[in-house]
Amino acid sequence: MNSAVIGFPRIGKNRELKFATEKYFRKEISKEELIITAKEIRKENLLCQKETGIDYISVNDFSFYDNFLDLAFSFNIIPERYKKLSLNKMDTYFAMARGFEDETRSVKALAMKKWFNTNYHYIVAEIEDDTCISLDSEKYLEEIQFANSLGITPKFNLIGPYTFFKLVRFTGEKGLESFYEPVLKAYLDLIEELKSQDISYLSLEEPALVADLTSEDKDLFENIYTRLLANKDKLKVLLQTYFGDVRDIYVDLLKYDFDAYGLDFVEGVKTFDYVKNYGFPKNKTLFAGIVNGKNIWKNNYKTSLELITNLHKITEAKIVINTSCSLLHVPLTLESETDLAFEYKRHFAFAYEKLKELAELKNLSELVLKENADLDLALTNLNSVLNKKDIFVYNQSLFNGRVNSVNPKVKERLANIKEEDFTRLPEFNERAKIQREVLNLPDFPTTTIGSFPQTKEVRENRKLYRQGLINEETYKNFIKEKIKDCIKLQEELDLDVLVHGEFERNDMVEYFGEHLDGYIFTKNAWVQSYGSRCVKPPIIWGDVSRKEAITVDWSSYSNSLTNREVKGMLTGPVTILNWSFPREDITKEEMTNQLALAIRDEVLDLEAAGLKIIQIDEAALREKLPLRKSDWYSEYLDWAIKSFRLVTSGVKPETQIHTHMCYSEFNDIIPAIDAMDADVISFEASRSDLVILDALRKNNFKTAVGPGVYDIHSPRVPSTDEIFNALKKMLSKLDSKKLWVNPDCGLKTRGEKETVESLRNLVAAAKLLRETE
Ligand code: GLN
Ligand code: ZN
Repeated sequence: MNSAVIGFPRIGKNRELKFATEKYFRKEISKEELIITAKEIRKENLLCQKETGIDYISVNDFSFYDNFLDLAFSFNIIPERYKKLSLNKMDTYFAMARGFEDETRSVKALAMKKWFNTNYHYIVAEIEDDTCISLDSEKYLEEIQFANSLGITPKFNLIGPYTFFKLVRFTGEKGLESFYEPVLKAYLDLIEELKSQDISYLSLEEPALVADLTSEDKDLFENIYTRLLANKDKLKVLLQTYFGDVRDIYVDLLKYDFDAYGLDFVEGVKTFDYVKNYGFPKNKTLFAGIVNGKNIWKNNYKTSLELITNLHKITEAKIVINTSCSLLHVPLTLESETDLAFEYKRHFAFAYEKLKELAELKNLSELVLKENADLDLALTNLNSVLNKKDIFVYNQSLFNGRVNSVNPKVKERLANIKEEDFTRLPEFNERAKIQREVLNLPDFPTTTIGSFPQTKEVRENRKLYRQGLINEETYKNFIKEKIKDCIKLQEELDLDVLVHGEFERNDMVEYFGEHLDGYIFTKNAWVQSYGSRCVKPPIIWGDVSRKEAITVDWSSYSNSLTNREVKGMLTGPVTILNWSFPREDITKEEMTNQLALAIRDEVLDLEAAGLKIIQIDEAALREKLPLRKSDWYSEYLDWAIKSFRLVTSGVKPETQIHTHMCYSEFNDIIPAIDAMDADVISFEASRSDLVILDALRKNNFKTAVGPGVYDIHSPRVPSTDEIFNALKKMLSKLDSKKLWVNPDCGLKTRGEKETVESLRNLVAAAKLLRETE
């Protein structure tokens, strides 16, 4: 029995990589210093896996920004606009990731998208008609040799060509047909180089196989892999899948000359059935994804050992106990959680602890498989071998009895929800008329998505408050000052609908979690979201309910400072769920409805406090859409959309409900988004060429829209002209009475100077539009 890890978090125990890259961006450290920090993290990662006894440790799971970008970059898939900057290699790479600006030049970043159903974002590489693909394997070989120098023969990870073709963007006339050969050749060149390297496997990651596959998809896969595998010689190749099962292609896959297959037994609800029904070849190796790479609950060893014994009965193949996906999606270690009570902590496993689970499962399954008999007998024997106190018994003690806490009041309220609680009345058009009169906003109203720059000062004050070094009053007064300045600034900028700026929030989900019963929090459990950005998802521990009003004081204070409208600012239930680590004992639907009731109470309180506009962010709604289209409604949207409606159905007709979504990639679910029945929606659009607008028109989208007019992920300041042109383009496709003007997303991560300049240009562009239309 062996163990493996698909990938390891690369941010470092104290987010060293984040801080170093950001320093590098600010030109505070040199490239060499950044590389040293990265190398230290890589070393620590490799050694801790080695020390825990992991047999197949990965390299090339590291990245300075993103692995998809790394792959494109190594194939020289670098759009002309970045090459033209004539920067050094690393700065060209970062320019693609985050845009570039100096006195004379200004180039936007490449688009960024969610990596399958996770909250990690990859950079969408672009192939232009004259892109000349060629391999630069420097990073790859360096990582392999570095592992070798630590006494490790690593598994070399690479995003596979099928997934690459599915995700890359062709920006010119030429498409897949033109670039199929050159891309494949780059892979083949790399395979050639890997043959002389000291690695255990080339692991080609093909998560795109877990979606619904068409016959063209399967043909593409076949063409690619027939070629690649014919050239592998003695190089061992693992086909690594994750984020679900490969039901559409499982049987075919087995015919290929892979040496090993990595299958996901956690999210892959049908993986076991397929292996059982169609078998698994005995001369291949099965990397069985058993330890959950996405959630933080301890592995139930009994269930895992059962699975392993069952697999063992089905196939004589060698089994490797694997993570279900990269551990990139969980925090690094529980060791840093010094404030979290043992009562909670003992139920969790972060990346380091998962290594231990892999090692323990490996030992346990070796003992169990020796019995080769039924599991119960083996486990009984195991108990006596290991004696009571030992690993297995302890693990089982965690699962005996209820883990999560239950609140009967919440359960009762949920049980009493009626069908009409999901519908807001009067219907949209009638409400729109009333709101137009009451709010009296100009055409193309300008607004922001909610947060204003969280400066060092803001973060430091919060830290001091949390550490008890300043008292509540001092802290609150500080926030009030910030709000006052923020409102004043927005008045000066002449924005129409103001926000309070969200200075009191560390994070749009954690903040709400902290005010809800049923949540627990970590101190240092960061997970990479994109590049140097990390998030710290809270944990749903029990039934959720609102302890007291959450945002009402801040919002009514802001409202009292101005005659303009202030938007109340909340996070919606689906997003709170999607950005938390969920329970595993009740359904997502039930957890979401609990959250919806809590936020509903907050909405009604805001309305009662005089807020006429309330935004309920569903930034992450799109994110957890099942990867199989065939599951979209039945497994997700049916209840997710309803739960949003449950939040808003109690408000008065004149109260305007806004929602916001990050990423406009919802072309295929436009009717569902419209069915949320919000009055206004803002979403990211500037990085995706406004393609969504055609789809909105085609679907007769009723909700008023604010497609983001500039990218907030980049420090670049958009000019008035640029925004004006974007708006003109929008107007050519949308009803002018329904167009709002706003940035792509919250401004929290931006600097103050660029924010003010950008917003000034935004307002100017909207005014220009009012004059010309
Ligand atoms: N209201 C939030 C903000 O402005 C929305 C953030 C988001 O969509 N990710 O920060
Ligand atoms: Zn957003």
